[in-house]
Amino acid sequence: MRAAILREYGEPLAVRELPDPEPASDGAVVRVDACGVCRSDWHAWSGHGEWADDRVPRGQVLGHEPAGEVVAVGDEVDRFRSGDRVVVPFSLGDGTCPHCRRGAGNVCEDGRALGFEAAAPGAFAERVAVPAADYNLVERPEWLGAPAAAALGCRYMTAYHALAERTTVGGGDALAVHGCGGVGLSAVQIGAALGARVIAVDVDDAALSLARELGADEAVNPESLPQEGSVPGRVRDLTDGGADVSLDALGVAETCRNSVRSLRPRGTHVQVGLTTDAERGEVSLPTDWMTRWEISFLGSRGMPPTSYPDLFALIEATGIDPGGLVARELSLSAVSDRLAAMDEYEGRGVEVVTEF
Ligand SMILES: [Zn+2]
Ligand SMILES: [Zn+2]
Repeated sequence: MRAAILREYGEPLAVRELPDPEPASDGAVVRVDACGVCRSDWHAWSGHGEWADDRVPRGQVLGHEPAGEVVAVGDEVDRFRSGDRVVVPFSLGDGTCPHCRRGAGNVCEDGRALGFEAAAPGAFAERVAVPAADYNLVERPEWLGAPAAAALGCRYMTAYHALAERTTVGGGDALAVHGCGGVGLSAVQIGAALGARVIAVDVDDAALSLARELGADEAVNPESLPQEGSVPGRVRDLTDGGADVSLDALGVAETCRNSVRSLRPRGTHVQVGLTTDAERGEVSLPTDWMTRWEISFLGSRGMPPTSYPDLFALIEATGIDPGGLVARELSLSAVSDRLAAMDEYEGRGVEVVTEF
């Protein structure tokens, strides 16, 4: 099979022939019909994570947002068979530990991150192996095509988990979303579907107009504001005193602090974006101010596979279209260029590999 491999940080991926994977006894092999290109791939490709001893190894097949069709299963797999249409979440659980049993497979202590570690080769490939298939694979509804489903393995479900499960955004809440890349735009669409009034923040007007199409009520471009550092003030003006929930989709110090400062008293910040070389995993925060106003700060990562029925139910009930996030379909050989473009934040919406 063809696969795109991380040879060296910051250099083009190598597209090579590799042997087809075999399913483990509890695993499955999925033919990849679509796989999104994500900022997390850019972090891996850039060699981020060394400060946390968490760098993705050279030789890794990247790609962690697959949708496709099961082509082989191990003999212990009960729930799936060849021909089943599936989504694969990037945060794979073992299905047996106390966290998985409590419905929190996304924080499984023995879990694997698809496409980010040697034990879990990724889905920038014609086929991908999935461990603990009965637990991790998600049946894809008839109405959900593969390109639209690609973001459901990562950005879309991450936004849902952050807004509907880590905190509970509801009707009438004001939600600020800082950073309108793939996960930010997903948060805009899902936040609007949950009934929130959504304020989208981004330095790029094209990203903001996409955010408006996906349901944002207000769009704030920090570069068009009168003085630097005025994003929180603008959000507080637009929300009559502060957002109920504010989400940092980007993971740079400024957007994180802007998000926290955008909140009303007792508001909730949700951190979804991971940091870059500049922060090295840590951001200083206005803790006295957060104490004074009883601000909550939550981390959120991926989504447990067991939450997919709730996410599908929201999509069906509200008629939102995850496919609306897909800005471009690509071939496998184009991935390197799209990763390089993320250095300059050039991408818009979600870009999906559909040709392998
Ligand atoms: Zn992703
Ligand atoms: Zn587990």
